[in-house]
Formats: sequence, C-alpha cells, structure tokens
Amino acid sequence: MNPKTLRETAVADLDLDGARAEYDALAAELKRHDALYYNEDAPEVSDADYDALRRRYEEIEGAYPDFATAESLTRTVGAEPSGRFAKRRHAVPMLSLGKAYTDEEVAEFDARIRRFLRLPADAPLAFTAEPKVDGLSLSLRYENGALVAATTRGDGQEGEDVTPNAMTVSDIPHELTAEGVPAVFEVRGEIYLTHADFAAINERQVAAGKQPIANPRNGAAGSLRQLDAEVTRSRPLKFFAYAWGEVSALPARTQHGMVQKLADYGFRTPDHMRLCHSVDEMLEQYRLIGEKRAELGYDIDGVVYKVDDLALQERLGFVSREPRWAIAHKYSAEVAITEIEQIDIQVGRTGALTPVAKLKPVTVGGVVVRNATLHNEDFIKGIGPDGTQLRGGTDIRVGDTVTIQRAGDVIPQVLEVMLDKRPADSAPYAFPTTCPACGSNAVREHNPRSGREDVVRRCTGGLTCPAQLVERLKHFVSRNAFDIDGLGGTFIEVLYEAGLVRSPADIFTLGEGERKAKTREAIERRRNELIDQRFAAQNKVRATKAKKAKEAEEEAKVVTNLLAGIEARRTIGLDRFIFALGIRHVGETNARLLARHFGSIEALRDTAIRAAGGDEEAKADFIAIGGLGEVVTEALIDVFREDHNRDMLAALLEQVTPEPMEAVATASPVAGKTVVFTGTLEQLTRDEAKAMAERLGAKVSGSVSAKTDIVVAGPGAGSKLKKAAELGLTVMDEAGWIALVGGGGEG
Ligand code: AMP
Repeated sequence: MNPKTLRETAVADLDLDGARAEYDALAAELKRHDALYYNEDAPEVSDADYDALRRRYEEIEGAYPDFATAESLTRTVGAEPSGRFAKRRHAVPMLSLGKAYTDEEVAEFDARIRRFLRLPADAPLAFTAEPKVDGLSLSLRYENGALVAATTRGDGQEGEDVTPNAMTVSDIPHELTAEGVPAVFEVRGEIYLTHADFAAINERQVAAGKQPIANPRNGAAGSLRQLDAEVTRSRPLKFFAYAWGEVSALPARTQHGMVQKLADYGFRTPDHMRLCHSVDEMLEQYRLIGEKRAELGYDIDGVVYKVDDLALQERLGFVSREPRWAIAHKYSAEVAITEIEQIDIQVGRTGALTPVAKLKPVTVGGVVVRNATLHNEDFIKGIGPDGTQLRGGTDIRVGDTVTIQRAGDVIPQVLEVMLDKRPADSAPYAFPTTCPACGSNAVREHNPRSGREDVVRRCTGGLTCPAQLVERLKHFVSRNAFDIDGLGGTFIEVLYEAGLVRSPADIFTLGEGERKAKTREAIERRRNELIDQRFAAQNKVRATKAKKAKEAEEEAKVVTNLLAGIEARRTIGLDRFIFALGIRHVGETNARLLARHFGSIEALRDTAIRAAGGDEEAKADFIAIGGLGEVVTEALIDVFREDHNRDMLAALLEQVTPEPMEAVATASPVAGKTVVFTGTLEQLTRDEAKAMAERLGAKVSGSVSAKTDIVVAGPGAGSKLKKAAELGLTVMDEAGWIALVGGGGEG
C-alpha cells in the first residue's frame, strides 16, 4: 500500500468497522514490509513511507485501544526470525526506539520525561546524543569474558543465532580481558558496512555475475546472515557498541560512563557522541552530525538521545516496545540535484514496462546514484495514483534537471523537476506503445477492480518476448525460488545471449558435453568485459595480460562452482518449485498453499489441465483452497492451457525432482503419529481420510497397538475401539479429527 493511497479519512471520522478493516489491513501490510526488510533484506518501500503507514496504524490503535493484542505491532519489533538459523531468546528484550522528526518533538520528549519524573523545567537533566547508524543490531553475550553467543534482534524477544558469523567480524572481540568486565555481560551494538566497503563488495558481486546489493544496510544484513560463516569473513563488516542487555553488575552509573567502559573493554563506540545538558545542546549536536553526515563514510538515519543517568532510565522504563528514556531524532532522506540523461524502459517478468531514469552520476550521502525509478507512464506525465496531480502536474523529460532522493533503502526517487533549467528544445517523453525488447504491442489493460485503466503498460508478447523470458529465468533462479549458488541474474543474461539457456530445463544440462565448454567461454567473455569496464572506470589502462590470466584462473573455479550449484538443486521443495515457475499472482504464500494442498506437481498440473478443459469440479478444487481466490485460479489454469508451458514443465521435470513440503509434516499436529480409522466415517471416505492423514505426515495403520497414537472411531466401531480404550489411547470421532487437522488440512 502506498501511503498516498491510504484512506484520506481522518481517524476520528472512521466508523468502527472501517477502522477495524483498515487496522487489520495495515497490520498485514506492515508485517509484510517487516519481513521483507528484516528477513529478506529486500525492502519495497522507503523508510519514510513505512513510517507513514506505521503512524497511521498507531493512530488507529490510539483511537481504538481495544484493537491492540499482545501481537500488536506496537508491542513487537522487527520481524520474526526467518527460520534459516537457530533461534535464541533474549534474556532482556531488544527494543525499538521512539521517533522524533522535528525540534518540537525533541522538546516534547524532554518535557514528557520531566513530567514523568516530576522534575521542574529547570532541574538538571543530561542526555547523550550519538548517531543512529543504519545497520542491524546484534547482541553479544560474554560469560567470564568469553564470547558465547551472538544473536540478531529478530522480533525483539527472539533472534537468530549467528555466533559463528559474528566470530569472523574483526571488531568483535572473542575475549574481554580488561579489568572489571562483568561475569555476565551482553553487549549490544550495530553491524554495518562503510560506503567504501559496500562499493567494493558490489564490484565483486557484479564481476561474479550476481545482482548488485541495493544499499549498505542490506549488504551488512546479508553478509552477517550467511549460512556459511566463511562468506561473512570475506565481508569487511564493522561493529560498534552502544548498549547492553543482561549484566551481572553494571560497571558504571551513567550512559556515557557505560559507553566509556565498552571502549575500555576493547569495543569501537559511537563517533561524535556528546553529553548534552539541554534541548538546545541536543539540537546543536543533531545539526553538527547532520553537517558531517556525508563525510562519515557510513549511513546514518538520525541521532539517538538517551537519558544519561541509569537510575533515571530504570525509573522511566518502557512503553510497549520503546524505552521512555530514549528517542531517535531522524534526518530526512538525502536529496541531490542531477540531470536525466536518458529514460530506459525495462521489461519485467510479467511484461510490465518500467521506466528508469539514467542520471548523470551523483553522490547522495556517500553512495553514487546512477538510476532512479520513474514508476510508470503516469508518473512521468505528472499524474499520481487516483488521477491526482504529482509535482503540480509537471512532466519529466530527458534533459531535465531534477532533485532526487535516496531514502536509505529503496531505489532513488525523482522528487521535483527544476523547470527553469529545462532546455528550450526539450519534448515530452513519448512512452513506447510497443515493447522495446520484442516489438509486440504494449497495452494498458482495463483494471476490473479500480474500473480504470491499469497504470502499468504491458508487453503482450508473452514467452516470445526475450526480455520476459530472461526475467522469468532470473526469477527461476532467484533467492526464494531455485536459489542456485553461482547463478545470478547477470549470468542468466549471458547464458541466454549465448543461446545456452532458453528455458529452465536448459540450466540443468549446462554441464553436458560441448555445452560445458560453451558455458565456460560465455562466462569468460563476460568477465573480461567487466574487468575492462572496471579498469576503464578507474581511469587505468586496459587490464594487462597478466591480470587477465590471473582472473582466467578463477574462471575455471566459477564454472565448477556453478555446475555444483546446479547439481545441488536437482531436488527441491515443492513450494519453491511452484514459486519458481513464476505464474502471475503465485507468490511464495500461494505457492506454499498449493504445495500443501496438492502434495505433488503432477496432482497440481493434472487438476489445472482438467480445469482448463472445463471440468468444474477441478476448478472448484482450487477455489476450495482457503486464501487462493478466483484471480489466482484463473492465472493457474491459463498457464496449463498452453502447450508450450506444459512442455516446459515436462522438460524441467526430467531434470528436477520436487519434494513434498517438509514443513507440512512438521507443522501439522499429526505429523509422525500413527492413526487408525475404524467404524463408519460420514463426511469423508476412508480413502480420503487416509490420504489426508498421510499428507499431513501421519502414518495410517489398520490395527491398534501400543504404538498407535490416535484412533478415529465412527459409528459401529467394535473391537479396535475396545482395544484402544484398554490401552488408554487417544480416541476421537470424525468431527474431532477434522477439527484437529484443521478442516481437511488445506490450510
Ligand atoms: P528502530 O528499529 O528504527 O526502532 O530503531 C532501533 C534500532 O536503532 C536499534 O535496534 C539499533 O539497531 C539501531 N541503532 C543504531 N544506532 C543506535 C544507537 N546509537 N543507539 C541505539 N540504537 C541504535
């Protein structure tokens, strides 16, 4: 949801139902963004847009306090751990921070604290002020001086165990040997990447055929949360300490005293930290750090003020997920002025034409920006969602001087056009009505939901469009799909251009005979180009022969790794397999629903083919999957209606074996249990009941013994029921069984 499309209604004017509906929708949206941000390291909205959603959510909750539950987002932080690492509970929760955006809000923060503590306005009250670094927080547990655990924040209560990874970070001591270190000491701080290191990682990333990382924060999070700690070691992560969790005995009585101790014990601590004695001094420090922001060499997004006296911190305590004694004073997004040299059109996997502004490179807060998204045709024309005006209706043209904004986490945006700098001979941008990749018509469909023209213009070429094909292949190997080690988007392009990979199945035959040599050649060619570009960019002469030979040595390794990565994916979870197919509207959640429901790709395919042939029962089977809906069902059926899609799948299945979803078995309440059905079942046939149980990971047996876990008995059950009673087993009727497995195990 874009905050611009948030309902315009003031919260006070919402009725109860409206408020409830919007509150629930916002919760779902925010959770999704949290998961994208914290677990996927791939945010979709800017921090400012996220904050706007969040404020609206909090406003509604403020007006309707009954809506809040323990799971309310105002009481939790971040996202649940991703499941890739073991979880660990924090002895002391890791919290979030309240936010201030204006000087007045900072003054109010000081006043609020004084009211709470009953301190007169002129009583002394000191605060520390230090930069809020944009990385990810980490808790390090030391026992008797030895580092025993490193845990990410996760949802604040429970985080991910990344101990081996943290051990590879040079700023993190394995041993605290200084005098006076508490026996139990949880040190908390931030893991981050400097701009320079981030740029170097991206250079390597691109040279290895992978997608560049969006920004330093994502780079830091992705580097730390590697399953292989050796990868983390190869990334120059930095850590600084600014807080603590469980401590057996506090070694100081003030915030600045504690930070001094952390420095004494061997940690890097915040740069530019100052002890302030008034709101004016706090704001002065905020301005000072703001002026230095671009030269710090790493991303910050605000200044954190903390009450200095720890006894006062203790008295102030917490409100839900935020300490009352601290606040983050945020900086606005960083803005720069540059020129649009060109407008490129990218064609996505589903044919969407997305315009991208190619900018005269400009440094925004330390990061060089070359591209900015222009969203869609209407955005360029100055028309916003809902037909409202953007930028006062000014359009965007090639040659325009514009202000752009880099808001921490997303692709830079164009804010305003400086009309006084517009060249006299400029012309409005003519958005293409044919696909730049394949020449097919590109159309804006009628959107049945809004009743208006879709904002997105799409290529109608389908799989005849090379751009769509390449994007689908990229999707196929992407992180939440096949996630093939060593095969990123750049290599897909290279292999496509070389004619080696035209469909997913082709990936799995790259190692065969001549194809292997050709793969190697193609990759070598591309890497040489990249090396030359890099040298050119660094204003050096072309790469020397010796340099190239050295890189060529690595070549062989790249191809070996690539082929090993491919081999490792010959079996894959069914849910990932379905997601990888890139069917419109079938994202990860729907892929999981389908995997659970059908249990095999063959069952899904056959049902879809029957539905495509007009079999209403088969169609009903899809609709019956809670949460799927008509639009998705139609999209699925459409795919299997087409011969070439069926052929593509058949070819792929010759190479790859999808495995039923493991999560089903472990998540279901009957996983691993032995079940016996006896007597007459009324709602289910015996076969259905058996299939259902097996799908949920249970074993179905014909006879009752001490090894039986559950006996489902219908009317007319006889000796088996009696035996179950004698053995004291769990007995239930059919309704009880259905309730236990959740209405058919389709959820
Ligand atoms: P937020 O997640 O935006 O509510 O802000 C809280 C987070 O800010 C913490 O979990 C830390 O990751 C981060 N942070 C960065 N620098 C600091 C700092 N100097 N003091 C406290 N938190 C910080």
